[in-house]
Amino acid sequence: MPFSKLGLSNDLVKTLAEQKYTQPYPIQQEAIPAILAGKDILGIAQTGSGKTASFVLPILQMFQDGVGSKNRHVRALVLVPTRELAIQVCDVVKVLSANLPNKVKSMAVYGGVSINPQMIELQGVEILVATPGRLLDLISNRAVSLSAIKILVLDEADKMLNLGFKEEMSKIFGLLPKNRQNLLFSATLSDDLNNINRNLLRNPVVVKVEEEVKNLDLIKQFAYLIAEEKKGPLLRYIIKSQKIKQVLIFASSVHRADAIALKLSQNGIDAFAIHSKKSQEARNEALNFFKDGKVKVLVATDLMARGIDIKFLPYVINYELPRSPKDYIHRIGRTGRAEASGEAISFISPEEEHHFKVIQKKMGKHVTQINGNEINLKGF
Ligand code: AMP
Repeated sequence: MPFSKLGLSNDLVKTLAEQKYTQPYPIQQEAIPAILAGKDILGIAQTGSGKTASFVLPILQMFQDGVGSKNRHVRALVLVPTRELAIQVCDVVKVLSANLPNKVKSMAVYGGVSINPQMIELQGVEILVATPGRLLDLISNRAVSLSAIKILVLDEADKMLNLGFKEEMSKIFGLLPKNRQNLLFSATLSDDLNNINRNLLRNPVVVKVEEEVKNLDLIKQFAYLIAEEKKGPLLRYIIKSQKIKQVLIFASSVHRADAIALKLSQNGIDAFAIHSKKSQEARNEALNFFKDGKVKVLVATDLMARGIDIKFLPYVINYELPRSPKDYIHRIGRTGRAEASGEAISFISPEEEHHFKVIQKKMGKHVTQINGNEINLKGF
């Protein structure tokens, strides 16, 4: 079914064609008509499913009604867990509103940067994308009001709860007007989320998008069996011998991410670490440098990597395995996105071998294994 059959305006359909969105993704096909019909949505979907456009498009269409925003009363609130996701969602709003006759002002607000410029810029904003803490600060400074909210979107709600925003979220819910539309997107459903679902959503249309198995087939997976202390030299060997231009490396902790990035830099391979202990500026800079190809390697923790949307990422390396098979699939899914093929490489120390067997079993795929200990790593 083409986008033009989902009830979207010609202006939006034109933008989608310009953006080379040829077909709606499953979540878009189901959610867009339902949202346009005023329904609440419970979307079980991951990053990569196309969930952002599935809520941004109908909101933009509905906000062509000429009502606009008065006196800092935003009309749509998109709550997100991280600054990265806030910026990303706001970028999607800007791209998709390119051809609209009535401009819809949108803005991303998040903590870790000065609040004053945000307070000034909030004037006239219709779609506000916000992390919970900073939003509450802005509300207490009377820089924004939620009393005219028509649509609430909770994006990556599971991650928001995992990051400890439960209390902030409840406070925000208490400030919303009764009559509104609610869209909740989450990769998983926990008890807390079921509570939010019950208390917030009215007869939601449930849209469930499973992680596409088809995507996994596009990913070439390899595993190197390697002694823990040789992981560093092996990493440098692979990056240099395969002439890798862009790779996302997963580390198990903030400390490990820093150590891996530092060691790579000391060995002449430009690398940045991105994790929750870095300042906002450092995270933005690392991400932009990586996206622009100015730095080859980004070392990330699972939490940080989830919100990163980079098209056509050719390589993902698991320096250490994640604890759950689900996270493994999520990590390697960062490559082979949008129908592009990619390569996922895992380093398996003797202690991790059993765990890797479990992961392969859960995934239903056997991964080609290479004995890394036989590679001559001298000089790397
Ligand atoms: P999301 O799950 O919203 O983070 O989107 C994942 C990626 O898919 C983003 O890079 C989008 O630009 C892209 N995308 C979303 N919808 C479509 C579509 N219908 N056709 C092609 N690409 C899309």
